[in-house]
Amino acid sequence: MHDFEYCAPDNLQEAMALMARHKGAAHLLAGGTDLIISMRNRHKRPDLVIDVKKIPELSAFSIDSAGLTLGACVSCKTIYDNDELAEQYPALVDSSSLIGGIQVQGRASIGGNLCNAAPSADAIPTLIACSAVARVASDRGERQIPVEEFCVAPGQTVLEEDEILVSIFIPAPAAQSGARFLRFIPRNEMDIAVANVAAFVELDGAGQQFCSARIAIGAVAPKPLYVEQAGAALTDKPVGEASICHAAAVARDAACPIDDKRGTVEHRLQLVETLTRRALFDAVARARGETV
Ligand SMILES: Cc1cc2nc3c(=O)[nH]c(=O)nc-3n(C[C@H](O)[C@H](O)[C@H](O)COP(=O)(O)OP(=O)(O)OC[C@H]3O[C@@H](n4cnc5c(N)ncnc54)[C@H](O)[C@@H]3O)c2cc1C
Repeated sequence: MHDFEYCAPDNLQEAMALMARHKGAAHLLAGGTDLIISMRNRHKRPDLVIDVKKIPELSAFSIDSAGLTLGACVSCKTIYDNDELAEQYPALVDSSSLIGGIQVQGRASIGGNLCNAAPSADAIPTLIACSAVARVASDRGERQIPVEEFCVAPGQTVLEEDEILVSIFIPAPAAQSGARFLRFIPRNEMDIAVANVAAFVELDGAGQQFCSARIAIGAVAPKPLYVEQAGAALTDKPVGEASICHAAAVARDAACPIDDKRGTVEHRLQLVETLTRRALFDAVARARGETV
């Protein structure tokens, strides 16, 4: 491993100043479950590693009437261990409880998953489907980025060299709404998604018609994809097999997967359709207050 300096500032201003001073030579460390592996295999060679876990804004979460503000380095385990968070944001729990095993979940953060920008990342489709917004800061100021615009290519995001992801905001779920994340892996756990899907739906008061929907798919394009047209296909449609199967076919048509050792193009397209259909049915069930 390349020699590096380590620091752990306890406030955002200091971290931002370090990032501004060191630019691309400084890398941020949240749980380290991606970063340390990249440093070990020398894909990343930072001169300075800035551990951000002592910064209050990044290491805490809060829920109010507007929504969830999730600090960038809150761990997956913290998320699924919290009853309020689990009840209001079950799709986030779907993702958090699938990322690695229990040891990884104790360290790995949703913010790190997002900033690592793997096409197969298991938290990003959920964030997109739930209309999450990334709050980013640097010495130059702050900006907010819808998560569907955050990743641009494998391992690449819109973050500038001096920018820090501070938190992720997810709006409070509307009444009669539900969300679900599903993935396919060849083993039961500890594997990279061959395909993954997150779906969010909002139903009418009777729970019989879609008011709106958002669908995001992963591991089937160079970055996690927001398939706006698949959600739009459900708007004002009755909840049922026909509307859901049509939206799933639209999601499949938006995928542009590759063949690799984990799956073929054909397999991945079929998975996107199947997972989208199942995620939509589960999201509908959650919107109706049923357990999935
Ligand atoms: C055994 C194992 C199993 C895994 N299984 C899965 C899986 O099933 N699904 C899955 O999606 N992933 C999986 N991963 C990958 C990894 O655990 C996740 O991507 C995790 O969410 C990364 O979070 P982290 O906090 O460890 O990030 P880190 O490794 O700390 O950081 C990841 C990247 O984000 C940058 N970064 C971190 N914080 C910030 C910030 N605040 N602002 C800007 N940049 C930042 C870092 O510099 C680094 O480039 C696995 C990893 C391991 C080792």
